[in-house]
Amino acid sequence: MASRKTDKYSVLLPTYNERENLPLIVWLLVKSFTQSGYNYEIIVIDDGSPDGTLEIAKELQKLYGNDKIVLRPRATKLGLGTAYVHGIKHATGNFVIIMDADLSHHPKFIPQFIKKQKELKCDIVSGTRYIGTGGVYGWDFKRKLISRSANFLAQFLLRPGASDLTGSFRLYKKDVLQKIIDSCVSKGYVFQMEILVRANQFGFTLGEVPITFVDRVYGESKLGGSEIVQYAKGLLYLFATT
Ligand code: UDP
Ligand code: MG
Repeated sequence: MASRKTDKYSVLLPTYNERENLPLIVWLLVKSFTQSGYNYEIIVIDDGSPDGTLEIAKELQKLYGNDKIVLRPRATKLGLGTAYVHGIKHATGNFVIIMDADLSHHPKFIPQFIKKQKELKCDIVSGTRYIGTGGVYGWDFKRKLISRSANFLAQFLLRPGASDLTGSFRLYKKDVLQKIIDSCVSKGYVFQMEILVRANQFGFTLGEVPITFVDRVYGESKLGGSEIVQYAKGLLYLFATT
C-alpha cells in the first residue's frame, strides 16, 4: 500500500505573467508540504510570460533546490490545457495536483485533499466552491454570474456527478489524469470541465473538498470574451458527443 513515504505529489503550476504571485505561492506550497511531511515537487510551466516570471522561477529554484522546483517553460502562450499536458509528462510523483498560481487557490487545502483521497481511496479529489463551506471571494456580480451560469449549464447538460466543474484546484492519481487527458479534445477553459465529464464516463471515483476561491490581488485575469465563447462551444460539443 502507498504510504506517506512512497507517495509523491507533483504540483503543476501554469503561469502567465505571475511574477508578483509566484514567490508567495511557492513559499506557501513549500510550507504546507514541509509541515505535512509529504514528498513533493513543484513544476512551473511558464507560458512565455513577458513580465519575467521565468526569471523569478529560476531564483526560486536556486532557493529551494531543483528537486523541489522544476522548470518546464514553453516559448509562447499556448494556453492552460496544453500546459497540463506538457506538465504531466515531467511529473515524477504518483499523484498530480493542479492549481492556479495567482493565489486564488490556497495551498492550505492540499492536506485536506490528500486526507480525503486516502479516506475514500478515490481517483480524483476536486476542490469545490459550491458545497458546504466553499465559496468565492472578491468577484464582482458579473464574474460570479458568468461562473455560476457556466457551471449550471454544464451541470444541466452533462450531469457529471461533481458540484464544481469549472474549478481547477484538484488532486489526481497520475495514471488516471494521464488516461483522461489522452481522451480530452478541448484546449481552453473548458478542459477543466471535460476532465470531470470523461472521468465520470470512465467510472473513476471522485471526492470533493470545499474550498474558498479568492480573486487575485496581483496581475490580471486572462479570462475574456473569447474564452467565454470558446467555453460555450466546448460545452455544446461535449453535450453533442458524450
Ligand atoms: N495561465 C497560463 N496560460 C494562459 C492563461 C493562464 O499559464 O494562457 C495561468 C495563470 O497564470 C494562472 C492560471 O493559469 O496561474 C489561471 O489563469 P487566470 O488566473 O488568469 O484565470 P482566472 O482565475 O481569472 O479564471
Ligand atoms: Mg485566477
